[in-house]
Amino acid sequence: MNETLDITITQADQSRLTGTDFSQLPFGKVFSDHMFIAEYKDGEWSNLQVLPYGPIPMSPAISALHYGQAIFEGLKAYRQANGKINVFRADKNHERFNKSAHRMAMPAIPREIFMQGIAALLDIDEKWIPSQDGYSLYIRPVMYATDPYLGVRASETYTFALLTTPTGPYYSQPLKVKIETEYTRADDGGVGFAKTAGNYARSLYPFAEAQKEGYDQLIWTDAATHEYIEEAGTANLIFVINGKLVTPSVRSTVLDGVTRDTILTLAKKAGIEVEERRVSVKEIIEGINDGSVTDAFAAGTAATVTPIGEIGYQGSLYKLSDPASRTISSGIAKTLNDIRYGLSEDELGWNWTI
Ligand SMILES: *Cc1c(COP(=O)(O)O)cnc(C)c1O
Repeated sequence: MNETLDITITQADQSRLTGTDFSQLPFGKVFSDHMFIAEYKDGEWSNLQVLPYGPIPMSPAISALHYGQAIFEGLKAYRQANGKINVFRADKNHERFNKSAHRMAMPAIPREIFMQGIAALLDIDEKWIPSQDGYSLYIRPVMYATDPYLGVRASETYTFALLTTPTGPYYSQPLKVKIETEYTRADDGGVGFAKTAGNYARSLYPFAEAQKEGYDQLIWTDAATHEYIEEAGTANLIFVINGKLVTPSVRSTVLDGVTRDTILTLAKKAGIEVEERRVSVKEIIEGINDGSVTDAFAAGTAATVTPIGEIGYQGSLYKLSDPASRTISSGIAKTLNDIRYGLSEDELGWNWTI
């Protein structure tokens, strides 16, 4: 961030802060007063602005709507114990955003725009960063294709936007999840590793079907055989098997989660053995039955660590240990939160303090 970018700032006439109840924050519904946007045309990003959050005019012909050139990210800003603001591992999210962009034939967003856009937005909306324990400001970068053209080809124009939404602690009820063996989320050579809109669109119908059966989430399996566990679709999956942390390796069908990486790194530092490899459904089901699988949890920015309480597979329900007894995952979750909130040393330089 050497060069300081020219960002035009337009303040909202009135803040919506006073009308916002921070004790009632459904995820992703309440937006802060401002947003950041940048526009891509003629091969470059320009028109960098912070402006009041609100509608962005568009043609109904924009290619994002028709052909799905749209990507996003998710990261969080935390108010630390000393009052300072910390954005956690923003570099990782920037890198991944550009990986998604590359796969979707979209232009990269320069690091300066990503980072200075976040800094400018947090500066103007600082009061939207909650200070209660377990709260944070979720930052949603998004890029979408804006050519008003119905031919199928990569768009030549794009909008990049940053939105922020204050969030409370995610619900920490242990999840009841279903191992999905009919529908698939991603396939080899596809776009599963990218945070691109279509991956989530295609999961909605199977998810709704599982919800009807009483499940909170799906566990996706590989498209070819349905024998291997991939991830949860908005979070990665980590198991504790015989005291080791075991997680499906990252591949073209599995998103490389920042939380996953963070947890594995912290576990290794704490002397816990970590295995990244293919994980079969059979291993997990048998392991629950014989007691070697003692913990299963979802790891993602939104939820951090969410314990899985029950796993449904082919009509049977397998119950895991009481989350209160899961010392390994709760210990790592605490270490992670202490770093984010500035309660313990950030030895690995993950915090970007603004
Ligand atoms: C965002 C996401 C995750 C979690 O990634 P984090 O970087 O930890 O937030 C996992 N899987 C999918 C499909 C995702 O979109």
